[in-house]
Amino acid sequence: MSRVLIAEDEPRIAAFVEKGLRAHGFTTTVVGDGVTARNLARSGEFDLLLLDIGLPGMDGFAVLRALRAERCAIPVVVLTARDSVQDTVAGLEGGADDYMPKPFRFEELLARVRLRLAGDRLAEVTVLTCGDLALDLRTRRADVGGRVVDLSAREFTLAETFLRHPGQVLAREQLLSHVWGYDFDPGSNVVDVYVRYLRKKLGAERIETVRGMGYRLVAD
Ligand code: CA
Repeated sequence: MSRVLIAEDEPRIAAFVEKGLRAHGFTTTVVGDGVTARNLARSGEFDLLLLDIGLPGMDGFAVLRALRAERCAIPVVVLTARDSVQDTVAGLEGGADDYMPKPFRFEELLARVRLRLAGDRLAEVTVLTCGDLALDLRTRRADVGGRVVDLSAREFTLAETFLRHPGQVLAREQLLSHVWGYDFDPGSNVVDVYVRYLRKKLGAERIETVRGMGYRLVAD
């Protein structure tokens, strides 16, 4: 089931889109401002972002720029007024994303959404990088500055989780549930132990401890 984040501050449009997508089996979350849209879009919890340009707090262009600057590759379909399509296309810089002029019929939107989701699967990222660290998701190999490093399956999954969220603080509980599964004892110190292993193998300064919060992969 695909999870769609809808960033739209006009309740009427948001409700229309949400109702239609749910009827077609999508899971949806609606947010009405740009900052929340950016924060949720980079959480890794969504497969696609429907992004209105005119949003309070941070407009759609700024949200998109922020996500791409963080190498967040979530597919984005931009919702824009029909008379500003030209500005929108210019604002997408290279056209990696799609746009949908308002007003639109639901079927038109659905077609774009399905297309973007299919394209995402085809063009799936296979190598994650951060600075001189690279993880090849197909060969399950890590590379630090051109040197191959052996990681166990758990270490690899933990490293992958960090590389999918560069610069973000990840809480222990978050890492525990993501890498070890929900039924793991929340009091366990296994995350700290494995972060230590990763530091030994990938470089001590690469993963920062954020006191009382968790860990962060240092982004360049
Ligand atoms: Ca708007």
